[in-house]
Amino acid sequence: SLILGLESSCDETAAALVTSDRRILAHKLAGQEEAHRPFGGVVPEIAARAHVERMTPLVEAALAEAGISLRQVDAIAATAGPGLIGGVMVGLVTAKALAHAAGKPLIALNHLEGHALSPRLADPDLEFPYLLLLVSGGHCQLLLVEGVGTYRRLATTIDDAAGEAFDKTAKLLGLGFPGGPAVERAALLGDPGAVPLPRPLVGSAEPHFSFAGLKSAVLRARDAGIHRPEDIAASFQQAVIDCLIDRTARAIGRAPQATALVMAGGVAANTPIRAAIEGLAARNGLRFVAPPLWLCTDNGAMIAWAGAERFAAGLFDGLDAPARPRWPLDPTAEKARGAGV
Ligand code: ATP
Ligand code: MG
Ligand code: FE
Repeated sequence: SLILGLESSCDETAAALVTSDRRILAHKLAGQEEAHRPFGGVVPEIAARAHVERMTPLVEAALAEAGISLRQVDAIAATAGPGLIGGVMVGLVTAKALAHAAGKPLIALNHLEGHALSPRLADPDLEFPYLLLLVSGGHCQLLLVEGVGTYRRLATTIDDAAGEAFDKTAKLLGLGFPGGPAVERAALLGDPGAVPLPRPLVGSAEPHFSFAGLKSAVLRARDAGIHRPEDIAASFQQAVIDCLIDRTARAIGRAPQATALVMAGGVAANTPIRAAIEGLAARNGLRFVAPPLWLCTDNGAMIAWAGAERFAAGLFDGLDAPARPRWPLDPTAEKARGAGV
C-alpha cells in the first residue's frame, strides 16, 4: 500500500509518501525555528498560522517529487493529537478534505504511535514485542509495544519530559532555541563531572521519571556564577543519561518478553544518549534499534509509516475523527502521581 502522511502537531509541518514495503517516495518538512526563536519557545498561534500556509504546498511538493497523483494513494494519515490543537486541526482537516475529495480512507493517528512505530520503518527486522524508550519534547515514557495499536505503558514522567528539560536548560544557559541540539553541542566542550547535579528517582522502587528537580539544579548552578555554561550543559546531559539508564534498566527486568530495546522521539537524536542506551542493550543481551536522526524528531514519514501499519491492520477512522490535544497512547495506564500523559 501507499500512504500519504501529514504532521503538524508542534512546530514542524510535514508531508510524506511511504509504502508498506518501507520505501520513502517523498518526505517534505518545513521547520519554524526562525519564527519562534525570538520567543525562546513554540508560540501556538504562530505555529498554527505557519501550518495553514505550508501544509497544502508541502503535500503538493511531496506528490510531485514522487510523481504520484492522489488517486494512486491508498489512504491518508494525519496526526490527530496529542499536541497544540490549532496545528493538529490544520493537518487533520487537510487530510479529511483530501480523503473526502479523493474517496480514500482516513487514518487519524496518535502522534506518539508515529514515534513508537518509526523504528520499524528504519529496521525491517524489528518484531513485536519491544521495549520502547519514548523520549520527546512532551513525553518521557517506557512502553511495551506489543503490536500495532497495543501499547502498554510501564513508566512516564511525573513532571517534565526529557526534551522539555533540554529546552529549559538551553534557555537557562542562553544556548538558544531549539534547545536539545544546542545543549548537545555545548556539552561537547564541557566536563560532565564538573557540576554536581541530582539524578531524580534513580534507584527508586517506582518506575517513573522526573526531570523538574534537575532543571532547578541547573538554574542554581547558573546563578552560582562559578561554572562555565559548557560544563553545566555537559553535567546536565550526563545526569539525564544516568536517569534514563537507571529507569530503563529497571524496565528491562520487568519486560523479559521484549525482543529489542528501542528508542524514538526527538531526544533519541542525541548521540551520547543513543550510545548510552545502546550500551545498556548490549549489557542485557538485547538488540538495540533507533531510527536515523532525522526520523527521531517530528516528520511526515513516521506518520505515513504508522498509517501503513494501521492500513495493514484494517484500522481506519471516520471523517468525524476529533482533534485531541491530550491523547494517551495507553489509556489504561494509571496516571503517574496526577501528572499528565
Ligand atoms: P511530542 O512528540 O512529545 O509530542 P514533540 O513532537 O514536540 O513532542 P519531538 O519533535 O519528538 O517532540 O522532539 C523534540 C524534542 O527533542 C525537543 O524537546 C528537542 O529539544 C529534543 N531534541 C531534539 N534534538 C535533540 C538532541 N540532539 N539532544 C537532545 N534533545 C533533542
Ligand atoms: Mg519541533
Ligand atoms: Fe514528536
